[in-house]
This record gives sequence, structure tokens and C-alpha cells, in this order.
Amino acid sequence: RHATNGMISTLQDIVTESSGSGRGAALLVQSTVGRQCRFIKEVGKGRFGSVWKATWFGDPIAVKIFSTIEENSWMREAEIYQTTLLRHDGILGFIAADIGGTGTSTNMILVMEYHEYGSLFDFLQERRLDAALMLRLMHTFVAGLCHLHTEIIGSQGKPPIAHRDLKTKNILVKGNLTCCIADLGHCARYLSERNEIDLGYQTGLVGTKRYMPPEVVTQTVVQTTFEALKAADMYNVALILWEIARCGVCCGESYTYQYPYQQELPVDPSVQHVYHVICVLGIRPTIPGRWQYDPTFKALARIMTECWSADWQCRQSALRVKKTLAFLTENCLSGKESEA
Ligand code: ADP
Ligand code: MG
Ligand code: MG
Repeated sequence: RHATNGMISTLQDIVTESSGSGRGAALLVQSTVGRQCRFIKEVGKGRFGSVWKATWFGDPIAVKIFSTIEENSWMREAEIYQTTLLRHDGILGFIAADIGGTGTSTNMILVMEYHEYGSLFDFLQERRLDAALMLRLMHTFVAGLCHLHTEIIGSQGKPPIAHRDLKTKNILVKGNLTCCIADLGHCARYLSERNEIDLGYQTGLVGTKRYMPPEVVTQTVVQTTFEALKAADMYNVALILWEIARCGVCCGESYTYQYPYQQELPVDPSVQHVYHVICVLGIRPTIPGRWQYDPTFKALARIMTECWSADWQCRQSALRVKKTLAFLTENCLSGKESEA
């Protein structure tokens, strides 16, 4: 097939390039990694392939395997993970990109740090969170997003990056009960020196429909300015904070986990359906009444309401939300001390 030929040649180009003198070696390709992995069990299945728990010289690692036709998404995610100065506690640790396999077929893989708890979505199932843990999960994932969004200026600078598919299934919970952001394949970068947005190979509608903000669903301001892409992430932050907060104990009670718009939208909704619910009917997740009686939850409700605003320019920035969450955490911890 013609398309396949094209892709394979690109793949070869990368291997040749990075195994040589390092000329233009944007991708770290260690063609031995794949063969050195011992695959243990499948821990996730997504649109582009599967994620496995494996070991590499005895250390646990996660291996994301892309099917052969998904070369673009493999290459893009590898490229994003290797952005200068990307490493951060709130962003999944990247180890290597490789062309390897499970034994029988050739696959493209990404090797990352492995986190036993899995996704935040999995973690929230059947769990009641005390205020300290709830705020810890919130603060750490927003800190990761804040780092992603921030431009670092200097000879070794970092471009601002928008995630474009933020949701509880794309956030992982680490062993120390902090969060990190994963699944960077849909990210967009802003190249300030060229005043250009790098959308990668995905220039159309991207992301998970249930989580799409109004202006993305209507395709009005998307991709015109980078500020709008960051603001779209902030709408997702509002929904994620709501998902986490519902599992938090407020006035002695918590709720069981629910998807955002669980009552209003079916599984795998169409863009039209999402448009009808969030743009025409203007529905947003319900803020429980008792949240008004607890200062922490009241403050969280305020962040959510501002961040899921239909007007993207009214949403708070990741930095602002991070600061509020740090403040709430401090209050919560000092409150505990005075109780003791
Ligand atoms: P996709 O692009 O196909 O959605 P993701 O990168 O989001 O793939 O991974 C799919 C799922 O695999 C996640 O929701 C999570 O449950 C699991 N997973 C991904 N990376 C890891 C990891 N490093 N450690 C543990 N589980 C992971
Ligand atoms: Mg995913
Ligand atoms: Mg993905």
C-alpha cells in the first residue's frame, strides 16, 4: 500500500538520523530497548494501541505500543516528550522511543515511567477522598498543566504547550499519591520566534467529545490564537476538578464517581449532541448544595464555574488555579494541625 511505504521510509529516516552523528536527532531512538523489555500485562487500551506494564533490567516501566498505521501519533508523542525542559513532577516521565515489538510484529513504542495506580479515572472509582488527598491530586495535576502551558525563555527555552485532550483517563496517579499528565500525542506548541502554532499532524477537531468546550464544538475560535488553546484546557480542568471533588468528603458525605455530563450524554456522544447540551441548553455539571457550607469546596466551586464559562476569555489561567489550590492546601493542613 502506498501510504504504508511512505510511513516506513520516514521511520527509517529517523533511525538512520539518530544512530549517526546526531545530525538533527530530535528523537532518541534506541533500537535495542524494545527487545530488552519483558512484557508483563496489558494495563490500558486506547485509540492508538495498548499500554503494557513491563520490566527493563528488572525495573518496572510502561510501554505504549502503537499499531503500524499510527506512525504519525507515535512520532508526534515522542517529539512532544522530547521538548526541551519538559521534564516535571506533574508530567509523565519519558524514557525512550523505539521501534520494537511484542515478538511477532513490528511496532512503534514509547517507554515511560510506570505508575501502579494507573489513571486518575481508575483511581477515583469507589474511593472517598479526605480534603488533603483531594487537594493533593488537584494541585499536582494543575501544576503539571501549568508547566506545560508556561513558556520558558532563554537559550534553552521551552515553548508553551496546550494538551488538547485533558481528562481523568489521561492523568496518572503516582505511588506518592500525586498526579502526572500523560498522553501528549495531541499537544500543540507555540513557536514564539516564528509566531506560529505547531498543531502537529492533527489540524482538525481533536480531543474527547464529552470534554470539548463550547468554542471547540462550534469550531469558532479554535486554533486562531494559542491563548484559546490553553483556555480550552482550562475548561477540561473545571470538569476534572468536579470529578475529583465529588469523590471528596464534604460535610461528612461524598458521591460515587460520575463522568461529566453522565446523565445528559450517552457513551461516545456525537459532536452535535455535545453541542446541544453545552451550547444550546447551556448545561454544566451540578454543584452540590452542601459545597457552599465548606470553605474549601466553595472555593473549588468558584474555580469550576469560572473555568467552564462559555466565554473562553473569562476562564482562569493554570497558574491562577495552581496558586488558589496551593493556598487551599495550606489552609487545610494548618486547620488539621489546630484540630490536633
Ligand atoms: P491513548 O493515547 O491510547 O489514550 P494513553 O497514553 O492515554 O493511551 O494510555 C491509555 C491508558 O493506559 C491510560 O488511561 C492508563 O490507564 C494506562 N497507562 C498509560 N500510561 C501508563 C503508565 N505510565 N503507567 C500506568 N498506566 C498507564
Ligand atoms: Mg489516553
Ligand atoms: Mg492519545
